[in-house]
Amino acid sequence: MADVIIIMGPPGAGKGTQAARLVERYNLRKISTGDMLRHHVGESTELGKKAQSYMDAGQLVPDDVINAMVDATLETNEAQRLLLDGFPRNASQVKVFGHMVAPHNLCIRSVILLEVDEEELIQRILERAQEQGRSDDTEEVVRERMKVYRKETFPAVEAYDNVGQLTRIDGMGSMDEVTARLNAHLDTVFTASTAANSEETA
Ligand code: AMP
Repeated sequence: MADVIIIMGPPGAGKGTQAARLVERYNLRKISTGDMLRHHVGESTELGKKAQSYMDAGQLVPDDVINAMVDATLETNEAQRLLLDGFPRNASQVKVFGHMVAPHNLCIRSVILLEVDEEELIQRILERAQEQGRSDDTEEVVRERMKVYRKETFPAVEAYDNVGQLTRIDGMGSMDEVTARLNAHLDTVFTASTAANSEETA
């Protein structure tokens, strides 16, 4: 059985940076729907052409495209530990992912919400825009992505909160401070999951 960690949070919360650090520390396979979509856009695939206008507008790419993409990725999974970054991103994707768990032999071990004040978020995103030049980091698009987060993604966060799977992690402060908080949480999660997995196979 593969352990799944889901990392959620508003745009600019530092998910990408923190996810990369967690991948390293816990030997995770990261599945980032944003990265996959950017790859498709870069290669001008059919999927990329379909997704680009939504991404440039800061809106969500249609669920059927995303769900099929994730399902196909999980089909070939051999990793023991997965980190989902950017998926599920609305209540419907939470439901669909729930149906993928058993057939792909997964177990959701923790859903993390990185929390950051809105003022700080806008500041961080505009800084990232200058550093990385992402085409969806203009102020107008950023505001739209915030709106989409509140309207679409927050209900997904609540869905996990309602079933007791959500852990809120303070995303304010330096990158290293946030990493330390995440590590403390995941050390506990993986200690418990290792024990559960070995009990299962015993
Ligand atoms: P991200 O890198 O996760 O911020 O994603 C960048 C953009 O890709 C988003 O603004 C959406 O347009 C699209 N995207 C990424 N993940 C999803 C998803 N799970 N569902 C719908 N659209 C997504």
